[in-house]
Amino acid sequence: MRRAIFPGSFDPITLGHVDIINRALPLFDEIIIAIGINADKKYMFTLEERIKFIKENYVNEPKIKVETYTGLTIDICKKLDVDFILRGLRNPADFEFEKAIAQANRKMSTIETVFLLTSADTSFISSSIVRDILRNGGNVEGFVPKSVTKK
Ligand code: ADP
Repeated sequence: MRRAIFPGSFDPITLGHVDIINRALPLFDEIIIAIGINADKKYMFTLEERIKFIKENYVNEPKIKVETYTGLTIDICKKLDVDFILRGLRNPADFEFEKAIAQANRKMSTIETVFLLTSADTSFISSSIVRDILRNGGNVEGFVPKSVTKK
């Protein structure tokens, strides 16, 4: 079974994430969306809310699972018997950052990172922009799936 993990904060899940996940679905038998928990990070949405937004969006997609984890991504990959890490690339800054992490992960394991290039119509979307819009009372329709706008 070809399994991938899609790690991230998903604070909240955006249409950028959804685009990468949907395009990766034909490549894998299962995609585990893994919400990383970092005790030092302040989140806008609780872990329960972030899980709910993702689960609601994929309620009819049996190939999508949701997990939470702390520690190294390669350790959760080994624990869940996953061989691939899925990541999205938006810009050169993403590339530089992701390159170092993917190479470090390869040094420590045999897990491959698979990159999908962002779609033109979602490349500007990030969770941090969404949080900024929300903090200032703006409308995030067109940035996030319905499971998030509902709230
Ligand atoms: P992290 O805190 O690890 O950056 P995020 O939840 O922000 O977690 O992102 C998880 C993954 O989704 C990353 O690979 C990121 O590059 C990708 N991603 C986020 N937004 C987009 C987008 N608009 N287009 C493509 N990939 C994206």
